[in-house]
Amino acid sequence: MRTYDCNLLASEKVVVIPIFLREGTKLRAYWLFFHFDDYQLLMYTKTSAEKHNAVCHKNHRLPMRSIIRNMLYDCVALFFPSYCIHCQTKLLRQEQWLCTTCFACLPQIPYNEHTDSFMAQKLCGEAPIIHAFALYKFGVGNAVQQLVHHLKYKNHPGIGEMLGYIGGTQWMQKRSHNPFDCVMAIPLHPKRLRKRGYNQSEHFAKGLAAALNVPYYNQYIHRIKHTATQTKKNKIERIYNMQDAFAAIDTEPIHDQHVLLVDDVITTGATVKACAGALFNAGVKKISIAAICIV
Ligand SMILES: [Zn+2]
Repeated sequence: MRTYDCNLLASEKVVVIPIFLREGTKLRAYWLFFHFDDYQLLMYTKTSAEKHNAVCHKNHRLPMRSIIRNMLYDCVALFFPSYCIHCQTKLLRQEQWLCTTCFACLPQIPYNEHTDSFMAQKLCGEAPIIHAFALYKFGVGNAVQQLVHHLKYKNHPGIGEMLGYIGGTQWMQKRSHNPFDCVMAIPLHPKRLRKRGYNQSEHFAKGLAAALNVPYYNQYIHRIKHTATQTKKNKIERIYNMQDAFAAIDTEPIHDQHVLLVDDVITTGATVKACAGALFNAGVKKISIAAICIV
């Protein structure tokens, strides 16, 4: 949990959500303070008095436009409520896609594994990858699976941007410096892009680029082979499937840059390795890998 400042707590940028936890035979209320933009947990208090002091000592008042916006939202939510995509509970005003409980329980990959070990074991030994990290551990039936499913197949590209922003913010908090010069996404073949309407990895990459304050590029790497879905293939079949799948063109402007290459889900790493290989062959010297989750 990061430290907070009073100005932030007294601003519109903070979402306050109560949760109730059983302590012995009693239910106790906790007030969770989230940053509105990046969903980071700022702090929690145990009593409503602490909450009152934390928020109100700056004489904070909601501006009229926020009050009207909230009223409109409540009217719409009355007739068209949104539900958590994992546990199906009704979402509160500031929640989106996941309820606070499911969001707090996402299986994050601990930071000491997060960088340069877990993903690196899959990727770095076989290619000169500098860093490799994923946000979450994918599991059948867990909330990460639901997030990825809605991101890829239910037309919710905003999930990618939200997760990218979380990933980039976490990197900056833990590492305090940014070694990357630009972010690129694993491209989709034009046929699949037309069918889906958007590239889910691109939205994750844009969120990362925004949080890391570096440009996002999509003009240097292209998918030239329309491959069948990888989900039912083993490791060898995936590698074979990915041969010559990517082409890097006109990469001279990024030869000396450190590229953060982004995918949504990493299983064997065959796709990112093939894509990184095409960039290496085209002259790019430094590549790191980031993903939403790892299987
Ligand atoms: Zn939930």
